[in-house]
Amino acid sequence: MSTIARTMNQGLFPVRVDPIKSVEQEAEFSGSIQVSKLERLQNFLQDDSGEAQVEIQFGHDQQGTSLLRGQCQAQVRMTCQRCMNPVDVELSTNFELGIVFSDEQAKHLPKQYEPVIAERDDLVLLPVIEDELILSLPMYAYHAECDDNELVAKAEEMKPEPVETEAPNNPFSVLEQLKK
Ligand SMILES: [Zn+2]
Repeated sequence: MSTIARTMNQGLFPVRVDPIKSVEQEAEFSGSIQVSKLERLQNFLQDDSGEAQVEIQFGHDQQGTSLLRGQCQAQVRMTCQRCMNPVDVELSTNFELGIVFSDEQAKHLPKQYEPVIAERDDLVLLPVIEDELILSLPMYAYHAECDDNELVAKAEEMKPEPVETEAPNNPFSVLEQLKK
């Protein structure tokens, strides 16, 4: 049992931590990250609105492998592949990563863990979280129901030459017929 008190930090999510100390202390961090700070993730999104709620815990398994476990939820805006309008998408992911300090160590990591390679005294967290969010993106985003009016408007726009259609109840066409 660790004699060091577990640390719990609320609020702003830390940019970087000391990985060895964090594992020893079984440190936990939680907080939010603006999507606008995650540029690689934005490449897959309609805009940079939204934020991610993140919770991570450091620790180790029974074999002594250093671990970074976490949960992450984010509300992002993607492009609906049916109507091409923005659609809100809820991302949610859980991860369990093995902390290593070299490629060599990564190779020897138990198979169930994805490696995260850290410096001895420095682990930059944002890219790790960003990778997990990118992995959790759906392949395609759709509205449950697209706005039909918008769809019709788009279809009209795409017609090369709009054809004038005469509705049967058009009062003018009724007049035309009366003249005849
Ligand atoms: Zn749609």
